[in-house]
Amino acid sequence: MMLTVDQARTRILDAVTRMPTKKCDIVDSLGSVLAQNVYADENIPPFDNSAMDGYALIAGDVKAASDENPVTLDVIETIPAGYAPAKQVKNGQATRIMTGAMMPSGADSVVMVEKTESKEDSVDIFDPAAKAQNVRFAGESVKTGDLVMSAGKVIRPQEIAMLASLNISEVDRYQPPKVAVVSTGDELTPLGAELKPGKIRDSNRYGICAQLVEAGFEVIDMGICGDDVVELERNLRSALGQADALITSGGVSVGDYDVVKIVLEKLGDINFWRVAMKPGKPQAFGIADGKPIFGLPGNPVSSLTVFELFVRPALLKMAGYTKLLRPTFEAVLETDIKNDTNRVNFMRAIIEKHNGRYHAKIAGDQGSGILYSLVLANGLITIPANQTVYAGETVDAQFFGDAS
Ligand code: AMP
Ligand code: MG
Repeated sequence: MMLTVDQARTRILDAVTRMPTKKCDIVDSLGSVLAQNVYADENIPPFDNSAMDGYALIAGDVKAASDENPVTLDVIETIPAGYAPAKQVKNGQATRIMTGAMMPSGADSVVMVEKTESKEDSVDIFDPAAKAQNVRFAGESVKTGDLVMSAGKVIRPQEIAMLASLNISEVDRYQPPKVAVVSTGDELTPLGAELKPGKIRDSNRYGICAQLVEAGFEVIDMGICGDDVVELERNLRSALGQADALITSGGVSVGDYDVVKIVLEKLGDINFWRVAMKPGKPQAFGIADGKPIFGLPGNPVSSLTVFELFVRPALLKMAGYTKLLRPTFEAVLETDIKNDTNRVNFMRAIIEKHNGRYHAKIAGDQGSGILYSLVLANGLITIPANQTVYAGETVDAQFFGDAS
């Protein structure tokens, strides 16, 4: 039986569950998902302070100030950022104040330094001031007791900055999965070794590991494994012992040496699927020791595409994410494309915005072994099964990563 892309993805997503939660240093939390609500124990900012370098004063004192008739005030103190004022501002007085410095009591306004002229012990003010002007009030960003972030939020740099400003150095988050990766195939040669007749370089493992790192997961690199049942079983059992999920590359299509299938079937409840898509028709998925195993096809383009469409969303779900798929959008096709197969075709494309619309052109030869076309491409476009899409019509498109 052939599964549709949606059927295969639904089965995978239904089968994987969230990782446990664990406290971690905020420095290490980037890209993970909060598993707790975060409340403020402190006001931010903690005290009323100046938003400008200038003079803190009583607004009522400078109502009539202008360029022609400046108001002169006595300067009683200078307050740099980081210091508390010692003196109270009274009528006729001002305090020189720096950005972020604490407002002195008595003052209700700050006039920026550009609107003043400093004298020996006094200052001329050239502009009238409104009450509260250039003052940042205690708690105006966040108040003690506020719910600042809810469980389920993805932690970005700004969340880490906010946690730090709340004096929170550790947070409870869903643990990102550790993922073991093994390349299978007697033809695979490590980098640096001589390429003997019939052999090729192992590129998939590098690509998959990079996809994992890009998505924020920890990689356990299990190296290359030959098409040998004993060696592969040893490798995969060791991988399962260390990792939360396992990815194999190669050996899941018909006509392969059956070693990957034999070993995966021994490990757990693994299904070998034909998914109605091009590239990436043969795939394996199942659960062993409660951990998902993804058997990716060996062809480099299939491997990368299947990871994008199935593995990445599943691992994101494990990591606590709720938004699992890359956003899709419409792109105008630049040439006619005929898909006369009963499989949806994910084509590598160069997608660019012209005059407010995305346009897609095909990135090189589309054979599933042509890795170079992925190097040219910045996204995928979808040509539905048994359909011809003509130039000027639109197709669904998605970018790789943050490309745009
Ligand atoms: P398989 O899925 O094992 O039948 O492999 C399909 C095609 O992908 C064959 O041409 C393999 O040589 C190639 N291939 C398999 N594994 C890798 C890999 N790790 N890196 C690059 N190509 C691979
Ligand atoms: Mg193989």
